[in-house]
Amino acid sequence: MNFRRFNLIGSLQWRLVTIFILLTFVLMISAGISLNYFVENFYYDTFKAGIENGFEYWGIDSNANPKKEEILEYLTANNKANAMSLFSINNFRSFTVIDMKTNEILYTDERMPYRETLGQDIQSSRNYLAVLAGKAGDQGKLIRIGDKVFFDYARRIGNSDYVLYFRYDREEWAGAMRAFNKIIRLSFVIAVILSMIFGYALSKTITVPIVNLMHKARKMASGDFDQVVEVKSDDEIGKLTRTFNFMAKELKNTLNQISREKSKIETILNFMTDGVIAFDVNGAVIHINPAAKRILKIDEFSLDFNDFSKKYDLGVSIEEIKYLEKYSTKEVITDIGEKFVRICFALFTDKENNAEGIIAVLHDITEEQKLENMRKEFVANVSHELRTPLTSIKSYSETLLDGALEDRETAEKFLGVINSEADRMTRLVKDLLQLSRLDNKQMKWNMQEFSFEDLVKSCVEKVRFSSNEKKQILECFTIGEISNIVGDKDRIEQVILNILTNAIKYTPVEGKIMVYIGKMYGDVYVKVADSGIGIPKEDLDRVFERFYRTDKARSREMGGTGLGLAIAKEIVEAHNGKISVSSELGKGTEVTVKLPVCN
Ligand code: ADP
Repeated sequence: MNFRRFNLIGSLQWRLVTIFILLTFVLMISAGISLNYFVENFYYDTFKAGIENGFEYWGIDSNANPKKEEILEYLTANNKANAMSLFSINNFRSFTVIDMKTNEILYTDERMPYRETLGQDIQSSRNYLAVLAGKAGDQGKLIRIGDKVFFDYARRIGNSDYVLYFRYDREEWAGAMRAFNKIIRLSFVIAVILSMIFGYALSKTITVPIVNLMHKARKMASGDFDQVVEVKSDDEIGKLTRTFNFMAKELKNTLNQISREKSKIETILNFMTDGVIAFDVNGAVIHINPAAKRILKIDEFSLDFNDFSKKYDLGVSIEEIKYLEKYSTKEVITDIGEKFVRICFALFTDKENNAEGIIAVLHDITEEQKLENMRKEFVANVSHELRTPLTSIKSYSETLLDGALEDRETAEKFLGVINSEADRMTRLVKDLLQLSRLDNKQMKWNMQEFSFEDLVKSCVEKVRFSSNEKKQILECFTIGEISNIVGDKDRIEQVILNILTNAIKYTPVEGKIMVYIGKMYGDVYVKVADSGIGIPKEDLDRVFERFYRTDKARSREMGGTGLGLAIAKEIVEAHNGKISVSSELGKGTEVTVKLPVCN
């Protein structure tokens, strides 16, 4: 912004100059008026004093009652010079003798101007009328009749019926007045020019520091808070400057504090995993953090509140949130794509508790939901797995009780089934207990160093009998030199046995099972490759899930609980190892366990 462009007419400096000029104007006008008034008064007073002296000298008091002839004799032609000096009559002053009873003009000075209208003028003269009313005719007011301007004065001659009427023409002092007024006008012009100059100079001492402050304030407004104005005086402007400097400092501190808070909140908002969307009271979006965009799978968010609610089928309206009770929230769970999102709405208010806007917090609960689903599935699976053997035990024992017990052969067969079902349940419960211990980290690990190669080989020997039963080829190869590992030998054995029994179980008669023991970088591994039924591609990721079986009936038939690989995975991972499976349906499966060697 250009500071020089500020309005001169509206500026304080201009106003101060105007005040100076107005003051001068008022002073000069009042001086002129009073001077005119005093000059006129002075002339009137000398006029009046001359007349009153004249009466005194003539010796006319209030009781005197001179006759008409006496008066005229005293004042008229013969004694005119006497009368003129008696009442200080000069070229601008004149006198008239009037009979107040008849209003007849008995005598008038021949130099009296406007003689034609004299009678008429006298009849309307305030002073003459005052005398007729018995009052003094000496009101010093200038009389204007047309272009005639004069003072007049009337006085009754003693107690007689005659009045002396004087007139004093303004022309005598008009010249002096004109000269006076000319001087006043000239002085007025000079005074205005001087007041402009002085007003300008003086107002500058006030306005310069103020303009200075204004410039600094503008800089502050544009964000530069390092503005300090030099304090040059101790007056109000000095105090204003000091206050300004203080304000700038405080403002800078407050702003720094606010921006620190802002950046803190921005960082929190930007890096928090929960999504946050802020709307104003009208529903327009004010802010959306990256997590919210990620959850909603969008790059730009320009929906207003109601559109947002409609698009994601939230069933909430802005009004509903606005009238929420203080500190309460509205919660909605919705699915966005394959994600489950919990959205909490809350109102934020100003100091006076007026609604300022709405905050929507988006929490991705897909994992929670998955876990919840898995928990439910797990409970359902456990119940199902337990119910199946229980049902058979129950039905076989009932049949036995109903009389089958009599037939020894059948009884033995039934009892055998009951026994194997009970074994199945025991296995299942044992596996569940072990999984629960692994989950709760309550497993007691008996860590020791042992030869991995020896362990695998002994496992192979342990299952050789069952593979022989299925006429399978079971071979074990060691590639390279295998280091010892540290771990819980029994648990690792459990893992390897599980993989081997699976290979035997899911490989048909006369199939082939190859076991490779090897070392790779810092790991030892065992790979069990069979030529069995294989696992469908889509199930490969799921074989480590609890109770997951590609073919439930077959697995159960073979005595599997569906927990073996899940337990194996937990054990291997607890040893910082890795278990993986690759397979081709109908061709065979390869399960690999990698464990870190001890250094
Ligand atoms: P189970 O007790 O049923 O064998 P596991 O957890 O050991 O349970 O195995 C889970 C599922 O993985 C099995 O039901 C089976 O469908 C599949 N599976 C495991 N090993 C093999 C294999 N070698 N060949 C084919 N399928 C296998």
